[in-house]
Amino acid sequence: MIIIITGTPGTGKTTTANFLSSKINCRCIRISEFADEACTGVEGNSKIIDVKKLSKKIKKIIQGDAIIEGHLSHLLGIGDIVIVLRTNPKILKQRLLKQGFKGEKLRENLEAEALDVCLIESLERHSHVYEIDTSEKTPETIVKDVLRILKGETDEYKPGKIDWSEEYFSAGADRSR
Ligand code: ADP
Ligand code: MG
Repeated sequence: MIIIITGTPGTGKTTTANFLSSKINCRCIRISEFADEACTGVEGNSKIIDVKKLSKKIKKIIQGDAIIEGHLSHLLGIGDIVIVLRTNPKILKQRLLKQGFKGEKLRENLEAEALDVCLIESLERHSHVYEIDTSEKTPETIVKDVLRILKGETDEYKPGKIDWSEEYFSAGADRSR
């Protein structure tokens, strides 16, 4: 089985995938490690990634079961199950600030989370998509949630239950500054 772990930067994909990988003894592929090979240029301080090229690369190296993690992992045309990690923008902001995000880049990511961008993109491309609210959870608890989903206990994680938009946008456009 190929498990896709996606979400806005800072939602905990790498942390969760590492824990999950050791828990279920499954290979973990980190998209960020292939970003340079699929990079076609730079805009501001973000790389422009050729998703087709990235997908080809990943498909070539996949053999058997794998966890694929990264904020583009749901766009590769592979995967049996997609887990979208979600984080309340208020909490996400603190995590991203700590990681050095600022200005436009910070605002773009918080807005993407408030607008469910990764979730919507995943639902457009995959049939088994679930979301986990990681805002108040430790990585261990998040992995327990993932294991429940893999066992078929999916009710709690069906898309559409998480909505940060009202809180985020009613706080005004200055929320991210
Ligand atoms: P992503 O891969 O989605 O960008 P990371 O796994 O790199 O996210 O985590 C982003 C930051 O948030 C890191 O500083 C990490 O230590 C922290 N973090 C990750 N998961 C959690 C969590 N469940 N609770 C609190 N902080 C977390
Ligand atoms: Mg990461």
